[in-house]
Amino acid sequence: MGARATLVATLTEPPAADGRSLAALGGLADLLEVRADLVGDLDAAWLRSHFPGRLLYTLRSRAEGGAFEGSRERRRRRIGEAASAYDLVDLEAERDASDDLLATIPAERRVLSWHGAPADLETLRRRFSRMASVPAALYKLVTFATAPGEELASLELAADSRRRDLLSFAAGASAAWTRLLAPRLGAPWVYGAASETPGAPGQPTVARLRADFGLPELGDVAWIAGLIGNPVAHSLSPRLHNGGYRALGLAGLYLPFHVERFADFWLEIVESGIFARLGMPLRAFSVTTPHKEVAMAVAGAASPLAVLSGSANTLLFADGVCQAETTDAVGVAGALRALGRDPARLAVAVVGAGGAGRAVAAGLAHEGARVTLVNRTYERAREVARDLRVQAAPLDGFRPRGFDVLVNATSIGRDGEGLPPVALAEVATGTVVVDLVYGDEPTPWLSEAMRRGLPAVDGREVLLQQARPQFYMTTGCELPPELGREVLGLPAPGVAPGAAS
Ligand code: NAP
Repeated sequence: MGARATLVATLTEPPAADGRSLAALGGLADLLEVRADLVGDLDAAWLRSHFPGRLLYTLRSRAEGGAFEGSRERRRRRIGEAASAYDLVDLEAERDASDDLLATIPAERRVLSWHGAPADLETLRRRFSRMASVPAALYKLVTFATAPGEELASLELAADSRRRDLLSFAAGASAAWTRLLAPRLGAPWVYGAASETPGAPGQPTVARLRADFGLPELGDVAWIAGLIGNPVAHSLSPRLHNGGYRALGLAGLYLPFHVERFADFWLEIVESGIFARLGMPLRAFSVTTPHKEVAMAVAGAASPLAVLSGSANTLLFADGVCQAETTDAVGVAGALRALGRDPARLAVAVVGAGGAGRAVAAGLAHEGARVTLVNRTYERAREVARDLRVQAAPLDGFRPRGFDVLVNATSIGRDGEGLPPVALAEVATGTVVVDLVYGDEPTPWLSEAMRRGLPAVDGREVLLQQARPQFYMTTGCELPPELGREVLGLPAPGVAPGAAS
């Protein structure tokens, strides 16, 4: 059997009185961390009657990003009392490492923690060495990164020491990927949220740690791929790509990178060479909203379709060159073919002229479709349409009659609400409705299309169609087709998305 991490579920909300949510967590996590600063001092005996694993008590102070603000005495009393009932206790190195508390909690039951501002590697090393003078089962050092680059020293500390009792990573949305890499550098524990409310910014749920990253199993990692975008936390791409790597026994890890400013990320993270230094060189990125256009600027080479689209959804690293590709167009064309429609015979309205809209319009036009690019900002549609040699129309007043296919390439529907991109009342029977936007449920627009009996293509289907060539370009292997459908919760080709069980 391969290496395995310990999964810690962090409880940030009081559990339901019937204990069912705790019992469900028992199947997901080895350890339950009770954030007593958020949920209060829960009865350990009651927790044990529902959760089968070990219990960790944490009273995170305000100074370290938690909610506890009481006096020193009150803090000692609460921690002291919890120590007699819980298996493990989190002690903040800055305030709890006093002789009297340490005397009541043996080393093997201590998690010695520190949460603070980003620092350089040398400063973190000194801090860790001071902490390590107090015996503990685990040393946890977390920095709060707010800008790209600030998270790197935390990983370097982990890589440097390779100790099995050190967990060092950075918190914050843009640094969430460091949590996922830390166990590959020796960290024994991975913390995940017990519910949708994270214990710290950027913390995924334990369910997602398992489904998307294969944790707690730790396969070998020889190279890194990932998704650059904003937002990325809810993307299904990590589940899809990592699922494929695991199924085929490939030593890759696909990470989500929440990126606010592409140029900063590129300069501070990609060009820092961190992944090569860690022995896991970068192989490829998928690129999503809103960075597809700017991604073209960093590529040393680009495919003709990426050049025509002015947009990249894939960046590949090979022989020191970064190559831009786009598979967005293939995604929609592939989904149409799966419905038995030949793109070359279709009149298609693509609504949205951002990175995705551009690429879809360029790809379909390339395949011989008659494309009209429709956009809220008409000027943008006109400019893009001129480059692509397709028609343009303003969204305001747009009539969808006469089109065989309508594609939503705007961000409308991402939050599960909002006006439909195009009204479907006048649309002819048989018009295919494609929504690039996807979520756990079909979007309101897609649901309406299905209610009206129109052939509907879910964004997850498009995701799968465009991920296949991405996967192949990254690994040289085909993504197993059934695995893709299963991971994305998609029905067999040609079946309406709502029909998925
Ligand atoms: P983008 O570059 O940010 O472009 C957004 C587009 O949406 C622009 O055309 C914008 O119009 C339009 N828009 C935004 N809000 C609008 C509103 N309230 N009313 C009308 N138009 C509005 O984004 P992108 O990268 O092209 O991606 C678009 C969407 O497609 C995203 O939700 C993305 O997640 C999804 N996507 C899915 C897949 C998949 O595989 N399923 C692949 C690619 C993209 P203006 O020009 O007027 O601002």
